[in-house]
Amino acid sequence: MAKINILPAKVYNRIAAGEVVERPCSVVKELIENSIDAGATEIEIHIEKGGKQLIRVIDNGCGIEREDLHSAFLPHATSKIAQAEDLEKIMTLGFRGEAIASIASVSKMSITSKIKDGKCYRLESNGGELGQIMETAGENGTDVCVEMLFFNAPVRLNFLKTDKGEETEITACISRFILNRSDIAFTYYVDGKKVLQSFSGGDEEALVSVYGAAVLRECIAINAEKHGVKIRGYIGNQNYYKANKTYQCVFLNGRYIVNATISSAISNAYASYLMKRQYPFYVLHIDVPQEIVDVNVHPNKADVRFSDNKIIYGCIYSIVSAVLDGNSKALEYVVQSPVKEEIKEKVFDDVPDKKEEENPQMKLDKEFGGFSTMSYEDAMREMEKCKPNFSVHNPKLEPQYELDLPIKGVTPAAHSGPDYVHERTFQFAPFPSPDRDPKKLHKLFPDLYYQPSKFKLEEAQSIEKINAILGRESERIEGAENESSKENAQPLSLFDAFESNKRLLEEEDKRAQQQKMDISSFSFAGKLFNTYLLYERGDEIYIIDQHAAHERIIFDKLREKMRNRTVVMQP
Ligand code: ADP
Ligand code: MG
Repeated sequence: MAKINILPAKVYNRIAAGEVVERPCSVVKELIENSIDAGATEIEIHIEKGGKQLIRVIDNGCGIEREDLHSAFLPHATSKIAQAEDLEKIMTLGFRGEAIASIASVSKMSITSKIKDGKCYRLESNGGELGQIMETAGENGTDVCVEMLFFNAPVRLNFLKTDKGEETEITACISRFILNRSDIAFTYYVDGKKVLQSFSGGDEEALVSVYGAAVLRECIAINAEKHGVKIRGYIGNQNYYKANKTYQCVFLNGRYIVNATISSAISNAYASYLMKRQYPFYVLHIDVPQEIVDVNVHPNKADVRFSDNKIIYGCIYSIVSAVLDGNSKALEYVVQSPVKEEIKEKVFDDVPDKKEEENPQMKLDKEFGGFSTMSYEDAMREMEKCKPNFSVHNPKLEPQYELDLPIKGVTPAAHSGPDYVHERTFQFAPFPSPDRDPKKLHKLFPDLYYQPSKFKLEEAQSIEKINAILGRESERIEGAENESSKENAQPLSLFDAFESNKRLLEEEDKRAQQQKMDISSFSFAGKLFNTYLLYERGDEIYIIDQHAAHERIIFDKLREKMRNRTVVMQP
């Protein structure tokens, strides 16, 4: 057996780097976490070539003193904990003192830092070999520059994705930081171009910065607490879903995590609303007492362990499902009045409000399904800005509404067959905010950003783009379904879309007319299970599904607007 060697620092740092620095995205994450721990309120991130060429994070945090600059590059050197007991109450994102040493060992790195009222110093490292501390010019805070990542680890380099692939991961990571820390202003540049920006204006602004304003009206705000577990954030409404899990973010005690207990609690709360391969949208901040969670599970700190999974599961499930079901229990958990209002609206949704005409906010809420979080004035301003000039209809885009028309002697649930009318909803493209590059945004969030308002005939490219989106979206939803409707999957010409909409509406209208009955002469006999309305006429009984009827009313309104070309869009 060979002699046992104590590995020199350079070697074990590179081994540790394998765990902490898996890819450019992990470097970005560690550096931003350091900036946040340093109390930064503004963080600027630059990457080039998917982070392989350059990752630079500049913050206005507390800075590093000259004497500490050297130590920052040493393994297990941290200012965040000092003794074993501190591990029990970690309040910072970093604590292992591994990141800088690991990153430095596999890149060319420099840290330039200035503490308030101090001088600015810079220290460079070449694959872990430190240079001399130099005095330089700079602003308060820290500027960490990582160039040529993995230049001395060619095997690792081979395992990286393409520049674009790595860039996408970094963008997703930064989006999560924006959502998590809406009190910090982030600016993110890719190859010199600004891609994302937030302004430290709170959760709602952060949500809009990342997903666009359109998402707001699809979301329900939550701010609740049960058994010491606090939940705040946004969840998609009962009809809003995504085709994959990338739109699910959980921040536990301020840290982004992926945890099976939490995600299954939320998915199960949605179980009765979403179908297979439909995934809920959520951005949730969950706070639990420090004592019941262990974050020291893996160096990348992405998972956590709870002392009692059942409690966590139970609390999250009951809050999310109470909010979704709109039942009065939700009110018990609510900790802040604005959300209370929103849940109240949901709970008492079916109580007709006579004051609607006088209350513009209510009118607006009704317009947007009761989940509008914009003020009436703001929304009106936005609507004014973006009068629609065309609309797209792709019958394959959305799962169909099932319209239960009152058909003689048959309950809606039992009714099927040729006279059962299936309608589809219309999907409209949201508008990107004017200060951001729509092309970039489209690339990042293809299903949220494209720009129909600027459509011109010669912009054949846009048509292609939109067709691609429509095609892809329908593929995702429908899979390998329904050969007979193949015709619908053909790329739509945008002008034809309007014509074909019109034809479709006329056809549907004709069919509906044939089945329509006037129930005004029927007498209302009562309500069953708070769900079905009972009507009688002579010796016949009619059962109407309230929920489906409500959908039908909304649908009819939309259809009317569609016909008049006055469908409202909102950026
Ligand atoms: P950890 O974050 O686990 O403490 P790191 O290797 O990431 O370990 O950082 C080592 C130390 O360097 C930190 O504890 C902190 O004192 C200092 N440091 C790193 N980045 C910054 C920054 N942006 N601003 C201020 N101090 C920093
Ligand atoms: Mg750190």
